[in-house]
Amino acid sequence: MSWQLNTELKTLNKMGADLAPKFKKLGLLTIEDLLFYFPFRYDDYSNLIKIEKLVPNILTTLRVKVELISSRRSFKKHMLITEAVVADETGQIKIIWFNQNFIAKILNIGDEIYLSGKPIITDHSAEFHNPVFEKIGKFEKATMHTNRLVPVYSSTEKLSQKQIRFLLKQILPVSAQIQEWLPQEIMLQEKFLALQQAIYQIHFPKDQATLELAKNRLKFDEIFLLQIHSGLIKKELAQLQSPKINFFATETKEFVDQLPFKLTDSQKKAAWEIIKNLNHGKPMNRLLEGDVGSGKTIAVALAIFNVLLNKLQVACMEPTEILAQQQFNVFKKNFQKYNFNIALLTSSLTYFNNEHLSKKELLKKIKDRTVDLVIGTHALIQEKVIFNNLALVVIDEQHRFGVSQRKMLKEKSQSNKNIQTMPHLLSMTATPIPRSLSLTLYGDLDLSIIDEMPLARMAIQTEIIGPEKRAQVYNFIKEQIQAGHQIFIVCPLIDPSDKLGVKAVVEEFEKLDKKIFPEISVGLLHGRLKVEEKEKIMQDFKAQKIKILVATAVIEVGIDIPNATVMMIESAERFGLSQLHQLRGRVGRSEYQSYCFLMTESESPETMRRMHAMLTAKNGFELAEKDLEFRGPGEIYGIKQSGFNDLLKIAKLTDWLLIKKAKPWVDKILHIDPTLNKFPLIKEKIKNFEMNLHFE
Ligand code: ADP
Ligand code: MG
Repeated sequence: MSWQLNTELKTLNKMGADLAPKFKKLGLLTIEDLLFYFPFRYDDYSNLIKIEKLVPNILTTLRVKVELISSRRSFKKHMLITEAVVADETGQIKIIWFNQNFIAKILNIGDEIYLSGKPIITDHSAEFHNPVFEKIGKFEKATMHTNRLVPVYSSTEKLSQKQIRFLLKQILPVSAQIQEWLPQEIMLQEKFLALQQAIYQIHFPKDQATLELAKNRLKFDEIFLLQIHSGLIKKELAQLQSPKINFFATETKEFVDQLPFKLTDSQKKAAWEIIKNLNHGKPMNRLLEGDVGSGKTIAVALAIFNVLLNKLQVACMEPTEILAQQQFNVFKKNFQKYNFNIALLTSSLTYFNNEHLSKKELLKKIKDRTVDLVIGTHALIQEKVIFNNLALVVIDEQHRFGVSQRKMLKEKSQSNKNIQTMPHLLSMTATPIPRSLSLTLYGDLDLSIIDEMPLARMAIQTEIIGPEKRAQVYNFIKEQIQAGHQIFIVCPLIDPSDKLGVKAVVEEFEKLDKKIFPEISVGLLHGRLKVEEKEKIMQDFKAQKIKILVATAVIEVGIDIPNATVMMIESAERFGLSQLHQLRGRVGRSEYQSYCFLMTESESPETMRRMHAMLTAKNGFELAEKDLEFRGPGEIYGIKQSGFNDLLKIAKLTDWLLIKKAKPWVDKILHIDPTLNKFPLIKEKIKNFEMNLHFE
């Protein structure tokens, strides 16, 4: 059978069939999927030298023969140790592998192998610990895992790098079937690598220079498509109408005056930009950016307030039910002096003001416009909710509305039969993207930025804590509780089969509740609790009945407990930096000094570098960039809170030159033919691109 791009991995051969379920977990089903699954980093094992030339601690590859090999168990630590002596014509060296029991079964005396790693050299000896090895067969072929720039992919624990590379190598020839879709003119003028070659080289690059060419080409593709996509949205929206929202100056001033705090200038500016935008009669499509805790909610509340005074409907969507509930309470409180009807609608919570209603009754009230403001999860518009004069839709913790979301909104708000109307769209995110960058990248979005924190906020003191100082942290927590404050303790997923991390967090909870803080009320929150249970816990924590909340990362996004001053994160090295930043943002939300303790037992240089970034980085943006550097694109932002992962697989927000380079080409193409009918290949690409823009 000849392989095609759409051939499913599971049908390839025995190996494909065995590994297919694991690739499926990464979202990879076909040959094409895998070809477009790019490495996030490369280990440079191309430095091939002789043993006598070894230099300490430099990544090196040796071509050697195995002279001795044996395994034993270290009696103290129950560790399996495999030792080997290998040699080339210039000398011998000792190799040690820890806990890799299969190695002694695979390698035999006399085998010729490549070894890649960093030599440890002392006065008396030279050794490699845990080097990568690759056997050289009878007919020496190009290497995959050593002696070259070796690709490293984001993966799950069960799928090894060697397995990924092995399957990729087999399917790589199919890349010859990939169709070039960039116009000839662009290819020639920009001297881009052909797409087929770029795909080949991105996986197994010939050398660093060719790798750069390949990356450049593939990044350009993404940036170009993203810009075309934005351009099309902009044109589409420009043809639609939206309700003209009048500004109620006096009422707004009154509303602001009765707030318990003074708005920051940034908040005022952002609110004003939004309010002005709502008055145009054309759909607003705006992104509000502001770091965690910068007070986006109240800025948006001002705009919502005005829409409600115009007697039109507003829908707010939150990423989780807990947050939906929290925001529901915030809006109820903020608007309590006014006669707005506010509803909460999620898959398990249905409230109309303070009254619990059946879903059916609530839907009816939304339809007949009794409800003015409805708060729900991101799924709100997907469900069969019929609005009546929906004028503004706000989506929290998301960069932008997806294609399907916009389509649905357009359909939902067909109020006048002839004119195509659209509610105004506002998305909010804590992921900071520089203004100039987002203007180019998100040409369809207007941007408002809240770039200052409310006054009286102190910087959160962050510390990296090793096991020896754990007791001190517990004492400190007790002091903070005595001073009237509250504490978060977050546990990571430990057992990967335990998807929601329930096991780890439950164990930790029992320990803390019974042993460490027996006299303090400790609560437990994780994703597998029923919504009502979660709700109860959050209420108790808010009401300070619970002093310490032990939780999984479910509390990551948006939760607001100003009285909490300590965020203790267990096994912090297991989290991405952006995620740690979000978690840290759960404290420091009041005038009290707050603390973030990053607990880690790992002393690996990589962990230290990553943890250190938490101390030095100035903002979330810098951390997001560092995440990309350290862990690859798969890890950047929490999956649900952003659209970036879907949009850009390889291009980075900092790929300035390419972003600028793409812009005039995009303008030219959209100028020649905004329907893209003259560019069928681009049109097809855009269609696929949009299909991949799934937002949860
Ligand atoms: P985020 O931008 O992360 O969504 P929130 O809107 O939840 O932040 O606001 C965080 C906290 O700061 C809330 O408790 C809110 O009431 C408070 N807050 C907002 N604006 C101000 C301000 N100008 N001064 C003091 N506190 C404020
Ligand atoms: Mg928020």
